[in-house]
Amino acid sequence: MKRWFDKYLEILFPRKCPVCDDIIATGGGRNSQKSDDIIAAGSGRNSPEREEIIAAGGGRNSPEREDNITLQSGLICPECIRKIHFVREPACKKCGKEIFDERVEYCSDCVKHRHDYEWGVPLMNYDAVGRKIIADFKYHNRRDNADFLAEEIYKRAYGKIRLMGADALVPVPMYFLKKRIRGFNQSEVLAKRLGTLLNIPVNDKILIRNRNTSPQKNLEQTQRINNLKKAFKANDIPHSIKSVILVDDIYTTGSTVNACARVLKEAGVEKVYFICACIGRNT
Ligand SMILES: [Zn+2]
Ligand SMILES: [Zn+2]
Repeated sequence: MKRWFDKYLEILFPRKCPVCDDIIATGGGRNSQKSDDIIAAGSGRNSPEREEIIAAGGGRNSPEREDNITLQSGLICPECIRKIHFVREPACKKCGKEIFDERVEYCSDCVKHRHDYEWGVPLMNYDAVGRKIIADFKYHNRRDNADFLAEEIYKRAYGKIRLMGADALVPVPMYFLKKRIRGFNQSEVLAKRLGTLLNIPVNDKILIRNRNTSPQKNLEQTQRINNLKKAFKANDIPHSIKSVILVDDIYTTGSTVNACARVLKEAGVEKVYFICACIGRNT
């Protein structure tokens, strides 16, 4: 039944490549790939892409992934996936951002500023391609971009995510009026897709945004922090939740994730990690 429904949706709303917007045939059935085979996705088995995925902690040497996860193929053109700058090693041990000096462990931002979260996993750099994928997702209702992003995170960072030992995925909340206007919270959509793949429950109740904030990208660091003070509030945290992964679309200076982490820790969560689709490079 579900397969027929999916087919129906596919005809009505054909899947488009998140990079070039061409209509692409989606997987499922014969063309779908088991997670075990996915290491070679998008390129040949000996390509740099494969090594990059393994280096990112998602390869065969990392904790075993669930065998019953079937990833969709055809979420992006094979040539377009090469246009995406996925975050590579060496990376900052705190925020996960690429660093250019192998002798250092942390990026300059993480050296300068204290972060309340443990560490995080970003998927790709916030360059022109990354920006387009996220902007289409948020502002042009391309919610299917979340399928692509979630599967790439799953393929590339499975091992690291399992190390987090999270009891819940917590999407960075959106102010309710803003969500009503947009119709959805992109972080929540991404978290739900990830939750299904990772078999980690999504909890969108323990953290709320109790006021709207100006778009963070236009503000200086100190303004961002002031702006975010008191923007978030934690609800009662169930005793079963000791470790959470915040899910967000973009990490720039980390002030949003940091504010969320602080609020959650004050409410009793012991460990807070994050996953984000994009990370800025020059902070
Ligand atoms: Zn394409
Ligand atoms: Zn860092």
